[in-house]
Amino acid sequence: MAGKFITLEGIDGSGKSTQSQKISQWLESFTGLKTVRTFEPGGWPDGERLREFILSSKNFSSMSELLLFLADRAEHVSRLILPSLADGFNVVCERWNESTLAYQSGGHGLEVSVIERIIESCNFPEPYAKIFLDVPPEIAFERVRLRNNHSDKFEAEGLSLMRKVSDSYRLMSDRFIHIDCGEMSEDEIFWAIVERLEAKIHGDSD
Ligand code: ADP
Repeated sequence: MAGKFITLEGIDGSGKSTQSQKISQWLESFTGLKTVRTFEPGGWPDGERLREFILSSKNFSSMSELLLFLADRAEHVSRLILPSLADGFNVVCERWNESTLAYQSGGHGLEVSVIERIIESCNFPEPYAKIFLDVPPEIAFERVRLRNNHSDKFEAEGLSLMRKVSDSYRLMSDRFIHIDCGEMSEDEIFWAIVERLEAKIHGDSD
């Protein structure tokens, strides 16, 4: 069996990191292949500086921001994702092209068709499965606030941005293994993902 490239999508606080850990462990024993866990932006060796730069820069135009995220992805692909897949490993990645589409269109007003055209020309590898953790923005927002020790960084603007991004993800629902998380526990979500992934892997091997 070749290594699988699987991405996790959703707004901040939707549980990507939590599920990435669980799914990576499960995938490793299910496939018998080592699994590389990574994230965007900045998940490649030495990517931390670009991550900090992208996430702390407030004054870029939407287009510059888009191109910075894609530069990050290009390095991620060539330095970590393709080499790992070539070595026969699975790769589980938090965030991918659909984050770019959801944030840069829904969040920051670029045309979806423009973003899609630019992404297409980058020739990034297509994931085997893309999982969307659909969590109500209000719930995710509360989790992020707790994680940030009630800092006031994520006030009203944060929640309204989360709502817009969430709507954009839902418009792309047919691309994903869509998990309607509601108030499901971490384990319930994990098993819902496993059920869908197992069915897909079995279906594909028939
Ligand atoms: P993300 O990576 O999408 O930002 P995290 O996995 O870091 O999200 O989760 C954000 C917070 O919410 C963490 O403190 C995590 O423990 C908690 N959390 C994740 N999934 C659930 C869940 N299903 N129910 C309750 N809390 C959760």
